[in-house]
Amino acid sequence: MSSSEEGRRLSHLREEISALGIREAEVSVFRRSIRLSGMCGDWATIVRAGKKAAKLGYKGVVNEIELDGFTPPPIRRSAIEDGAIDGERPDVLIIGGGVIGCAIARELRRWDVSVLLCEKESDVAMHASSRNDGMIHPGIASHIGSLRGKMNVEGNLMYTQLCKDLKIPFKRYGNFILYSDHLFGVGGRAVLGARAKAFGIPGGHISRQRMHELEPNITDAALGAFSYPMSGVLSPYKLTVALAENAVENGARVSLDTIVTSMEMEHGRIAAVHTNRGTVYPRLVVNAAGVFSDIIAKMADDQFFTIHPRKGELVILDKKKGKLVQRSMGLVSVKAATSDTKGGGVMRTIDGNVLVGPDAYEEPLREDFSTHADHVDAILEKHLPLIKGFAKSDVITYFAGVRASNYEEEFIVERSEEVDNLVHAAAIQSPGLASAPAIAKRIAEISTAALGEQMDVHKNDRFDPVRKAAPVLKYLSLEEKQKLIEKNPDYGVIICRCEEISKGEIIDCIHSPIPVTSLDGIKRRVRPGMGRCQGGFCSPLVTSIIAQETGLKPEEITKNGDGTEFLYGPTNKGTGQTAADKGAESKPQAKKAPARKPSAKASAGKGGARTAQKSDKKAPAKAGASKKKGGAEA
Ligand SMILES: Cc1cc2nc3c(=O)[nH]c(=O)nc-3n(C[C@H](O)[C@H](O)[C@H](O)COP(=O)(O)OP(=O)(O)OC[C@H]3O[C@@H](n4cnc5c(N)ncnc54)[C@H](O)[C@@H]3O)c2cc1C
Repeated sequence: MSSSEEGRRLSHLREEISALGIREAEVSVFRRSIRLSGMCGDWATIVRAGKKAAKLGYKGVVNEIELDGFTPPPIRRSAIEDGAIDGERPDVLIIGGGVIGCAIARELRRWDVSVLLCEKESDVAMHASSRNDGMIHPGIASHIGSLRGKMNVEGNLMYTQLCKDLKIPFKRYGNFILYSDHLFGVGGRAVLGARAKAFGIPGGHISRQRMHELEPNITDAALGAFSYPMSGVLSPYKLTVALAENAVENGARVSLDTIVTSMEMEHGRIAAVHTNRGTVYPRLVVNAAGVFSDIIAKMADDQFFTIHPRKGELVILDKKKGKLVQRSMGLVSVKAATSDTKGGGVMRTIDGNVLVGPDAYEEPLREDFSTHADHVDAILEKHLPLIKGFAKSDVITYFAGVRASNYEEEFIVERSEEVDNLVHAAAIQSPGLASAPAIAKRIAEISTAALGEQMDVHKNDRFDPVRKAAPVLKYLSLEEKQKLIEKNPDYGVIICRCEEISKGEIIDCIHSPIPVTSLDGIKRRVRPGMGRCQGGFCSPLVTSIIAQETGLKPEEITKNGDGTEFLYGPTNKGTGQTAADKGAESKPQAKKAPARKPSAKASAGKGGARTAQKSDKKAPAKAGASKKKGGAEA
């Protein structure tokens, strides 16, 4: 394109976004991305402006239009400040312990390269990777030629073996795309048929009669269906934890409560990465930071995209209704089929509950996991009438997650064009879970090729893909249970009655390769508190088991990491103090990781870096004359 033509297109875009209501709009091109600035009082308009810019076909859109009166809140982080990983020199530093970062850590250990993963939260899988449907999409919703579609279809195929290796349950229950207008029935055959052919996805249109034979509880709301049998379900947090555990078993190291705050650049390379637990000197950095992946790119002076958070709320129904549906199903209209979201629906989870939703809406907050009555009502109104026998009284809880969408609505899985030792696994929105194994494989290929320019990279002959999983009582036969209980009576003490979880299983996760000491951390691994009573009965028991096993005081135990302490000491009967009085004193500003009673496996401090392989050499205190980039937004 000639520079005058480019100038004309940019000035046309500037006029367009000004007409939307962006004040002092500016449009420019920097490196190969397009940059927007200006001001506006409406977030939806800012997002629209970004989408218009994306249509121009540049590498990315950096949307810096400011929302009037809005200051981004500080990024959630631990108050811990120590030197747990200071001076380390891993071959690869992965930023982010979601499903993508954890899958990459595991995949990279197939090679003889040292891997350190930093996660800012107190556990892996605390952002989108635990706040989703757990659906392994067949790939039919993706556009032909998109990387999202390619990764989805490849990832889907990898799941049967992966879940076998990781010893987590996975079922290919299948998926129905339902329609209520004949137009979609006709148009869908062409569009979905072409996609199925292009991606090699089995399935297609089925008759209304067949739809009812397979799912007898679908109401008359649906006229017909497209059926995709490769669609699967699993527990997304169990998957993420299992990936991380297997990575650690194979020598990767995970440092929890560790936020990357800034980077030092030297000659177009990342020379040092600063965290709240010390400075690290990696050969290569992988950006898997989810909704903050653009912030990480900015720290390395490589921002060519902006994340616009797209939130989704989901509702969980009681297990007693799980039997009413087998497949995941959503009623799709022509309008929804052309938007950025698949429109949500109903699905049976791997644990037998029903999930309803999600919805999808834009908002500027990246860590807002609140749910709202109007959204929950709208979700229920939209999807419950699809199935005979579903009622509002079946709802047991709700949750929300935030998708890391960029304006191109496309995954970024590539080596940086600007920074020699940076690889992006960024903007991994839906279907990121379904795509995770394929993304991890591709990132490992890119990373080992990049590392190959600096060192010899060999296959790791000792890599064992099979996770050493602890027993799950409810999947065992009566005889197996009996044997286990004879060996260890803790497996005979049921702590969570709703989900049938024993004391032995809870103790196992406290001492697992990624040790956890928070209530939600235990919940993500073995589910106490996920049943009908939502932890009403088992939470005090789980708390006392954590205290016994770790030596932590009950008031040091958290719901979900630093700042979520929920006990403030003895009741006022014994002390004369109220819980609120105590609470005011017990919120430390900055602290060291509290010591834990050591056990054979859980030897690190709270969330500390696990040393599962020989420690890497320490680096000199300062990496030469270098430039500090992208100050901490944390
Ligand atoms: C409501 C909803 C429903 C969805 N349903 C599905 C589905 O059914 N199927 C599907 O395939 N996909 C689904 N998705 C998408 C899927 O959840 C995501 O694509 C996937 O979880 C992304 O994983 P991730 O590892 O990239 O991000 P995340 O899980 O968000 O992980 C990124 C991690 O980086 C950490 N981090 C960020 N900044 C820093 C820093 N500075 N230092 C250290 N750590 C940092 C964060 O704490 C976070 O843990 C859904 C998403 C949502 C929100």
